[in-house]
Parts: sequence; C-alpha cells; structure tokens
Amino acid sequence: MTVTIIGGGVGGLTAALALKARGIECRVLESARQIRPLGVGINLLPHATAVLDALGVLRALEAVSIATKEAAYYNRFGQLIHVEPLGRAAGYATPQLSIHRGELQMVLLDAVLSRLGAHAVRTGIRCVGVEQDADGVTLRLHDSETGQALPPERASVVVAADGIHSVIRRQFFPDEAPYLYSGVNMWRGVTRMKPILSHATMVRAGWLAHGKMVIYPIRDHPDGTQLMNWVAEIETPSHAENDWAKPGRLEDFLPAFAGWHFDWLDVPAMIRAADVVLEYPMVDKDPLSRWSHGRVTLLGDAAHPMYPRGSNGAGQAILDAKALAECLGGQADPVAALRDYEARRLGPTAQVVRTNRTAPPDAIIREVWQRTGDKPFARIEDVISADELAAMLDGYRKVAGYDKAALNPP
Ligand SMILES: Cc1cc2nc3c(=O)[nH]c(=O)nc-3n(C[C@H](O)[C@H](O)[C@H](O)COP(=O)(O)OP(=O)(O)OC[C@H]3O[C@@H](n4cnc5c(N)ncnc54)[C@H](O)[C@@H]3O)c2cc1C
Repeated sequence: MTVTIIGGGVGGLTAALALKARGIECRVLESARQIRPLGVGINLLPHATAVLDALGVLRALEAVSIATKEAAYYNRFGQLIHVEPLGRAAGYATPQLSIHRGELQMVLLDAVLSRLGAHAVRTGIRCVGVEQDADGVTLRLHDSETGQALPPERASVVVAADGIHSVIRRQFFPDEAPYLYSGVNMWRGVTRMKPILSHATMVRAGWLAHGKMVIYPIRDHPDGTQLMNWVAEIETPSHAENDWAKPGRLEDFLPAFAGWHFDWLDVPAMIRAADVVLEYPMVDKDPLSRWSHGRVTLLGDAAHPMYPRGSNGAGQAILDAKALAECLGGQADPVAALRDYEARRLGPTAQVVRTNRTAPPDAIIREVWQRTGDKPFARIEDVISADELAAMLDGYRKVAGYDKAALNPP
C-alpha cells in the first residue's frame, strides 16, 4: 500500500511518521516551494505530546520549546481569577509544550526526512484534485509556482492534510462556505523580553468586547530573555481574508490595551516591542458528516478547522495521525480502514469544534466578566467559587480528550 499525504504541515508530517512507524509506505506532497518556519506560537497538550513521544520526537521538541507549567486567568484590570498547574506539573506523563509553529514543523520535517528519505517530501507541488477507481487514486498535480500541470500520480490511499483551504474537502463539499467568521479578529505576535510570572505561565486576560490577550513564552534565550508569544483578540464586525502571513497594524488593536500596565506585565510595551505582528480572523467550519470517501480521507485542519481557543488545533491533527496509522496498519482493506478512522475521530473532533465556540477554557474569564459587570472585584471568592472554576476547566479537558484520568490510567 502506498499512501500519498497532501500537505506537509503539522498534521501531514506527523501522519508520515506514524505511518512509517507501522511499516506503511508513504510520501508527502507540499505546495510551498520550500518548507520554512512560518507562523507564531502554538501549544501542544499532553495527549498530543504523548503521541509525539511515542514517535520519538519529544526530546527534539523539548529542546526548542517551553514546558508550560501553569495557566493563569486574569480580568482586564490585571486581577488574578484562577491559576492551575499544566502538563507535567499537573501530573501528566508528558508535558504541555508551548512552541513556535515553525520550530514544530521543522522538527517533524527533519524526522520525516531522516526516517523516510529525502525523496519522501516533495515541495512546490499543488494537488488540485483526485479521482479514484477500484484499484487506487489518481492525483491531479500542478507546479505551485507556474500553475503548469504536472504528470498525474497514483496512490493506494490519499490523505488530505492540506489545511483550512483544503482543495480535497472542497471537491467533496463544493457548496460549503470557505470558512465561518466568529466575530473576533486576532493579532498575533512574538516579542523577545524578560520572563514573567513562573517563566512558563500561559496567561489569558480580559474579555472580547474590550479586548482579550493570551500570552505565553515559547523559547528560552541564552541571555535570560524569552520569546513571548501573544494573541490579542477583539470583537470586530469586519475582518480581512484568512491568510496566515498577513501583517497586522498596531493602530488596529493597540488602543484596546493601552491601559494594561500591570505589576506583572506592561502589555502595551510588550506589543510595541514585537518582532512580528500578524493579523488573522478567528474562523472555523461546521463539522462535516463524513471525511472518508473510498480511498481518500481528510486530516487535521482540512477535516476540522477550529477556533484556536483551547490549544487544540495542532494537537487534534496529531491525534488524527495516530488514529489513521492504527486503522491503516490494522487491516488490509484501505476503504474499511478509512471508515474506521473516520468513526474514531470525526465525533470527538466535532465536539471540540463546537465546544471551542461555546465553552473553551477562557469561558471562566467570560463568566467573571459577566458576574462583575466588567468591574474590578474585591475578592474572587465572592464572585465565583474555586470548585465552579475547576468544574468548567475539567469539562473542557474531557471534551478535548486530555482528562488526566483517561490519559494516565492508574
Ligand atoms: C503558514 C501557516 C502558518 C500558521 N501559523 C499558525 C500560528 O501561528 N498559530 C496557530 O495556532 N496555527 C497556525 N497555523 C495553523 C496550524 O498549523 C494548524 O491549525 C494545525 O497545526 C493543524 O495543521 P494541519 O497540518 O492540519 O494544517 P496546516 O498547518 O495548515 O498545513 C497544511 C499544509 O498543506 C499545504 N497545502 C495546502 N494546500 C495544498 C495543496 N493543494 N497541495 C499540497 N499542499 C497543500 C500547506 O502549504 C501547508 O503546509 C498555520 C498554518 C500555516 C499553513
């Protein structure tokens, strides 16, 4: 069996490693001429790092990331609402990693090239469609720079890991909207600066009407500084196209955070000192009724793009990769294997997509925002109990599949 994976992002490269680990021959076609470390920060929860550990890349990832120790929730006045341990500090067997998306992709790419060989990843090739018959799949390919047609190629199975703008998803669901806008626009950046709080804290602060921030370090530097990843989110009726590389303008969002001078962080100073600022709308798509069509299936953002509100986008793609390899490795009939893969992953990921819309982890700051009428509080215990906060966060962990009891059985 030969599997062709369309897309050399986090999902596609992890799928290549997982298939190789099961002795299944595969190759990756990537539209970018060169795979370069693009993007800003991303989080990998313990369920995803457990998969990466089993694939033998966790150590390399730990060398270029921060093992996040705690999550801290604040209101927009800088008052602490709740803090809880994360990753190994919370008793998980594997860490929660905060990492630059590009570093994650490059570690995965190095592993794929060294284990599958240099020929396994071919760049500059854009898949524009697939056709299948009883024996296999024909991929229609174009040179991604010139747009010229390339000779078609055959595979036993095709995995479309081609991201939120997936052409294969569009082929199967031509009437679907390109994406659904949440009403929240995001500006993302990285700033080299002195560490804050525990030096490994993921901060969520404020709420969307006035502006919300997510802030966490993704890399230590030898001089004692860290690369701090931050995301500013503001409710905004209009938005630009969803292009991961679109530069953002400070004047569009900095005023919302102008008063955020806390004793633990000067937010406007951090934003002004950014190395890079990108603008991206918070978008997703409705869950699909099916992913697998005969010998072709979807994986990662192609299958289930979701709001980046629970640190699950990359992680769920990694879990898909594991399930796909187990299903294809577990039986000879690829069509049945892809049906099993869909049966295992479509329901759980659809639930994450829906929960990220309504009750992601930051719902606890929304709750405090509502109960206080967006005013400072005297004592958080008078606003919400620790048990209520813990129950909301536990609920999300169960939906996203990293509830500790399920992940680390005694
Ligand atoms: C350039 C870029 C920057 C990103 N930056 C961030 C970020 O800063 N923070 C964040 O949370 N998420 C970011 N993401 C999204 C994040 O990587 C995904 O949500 C998550 O990792 C799931 O990965 P995926 O492999 O399913 O999709 P993606 O990571 O989107 O990978 C899809 C891959 O498929 C390739 N591709 C697309 N169409 C075709 C085609 N027709 N033929 C061949 N190849 C194709 C793309 O070039 C890409 O490499 C970014 C994605 C991209 C592509």
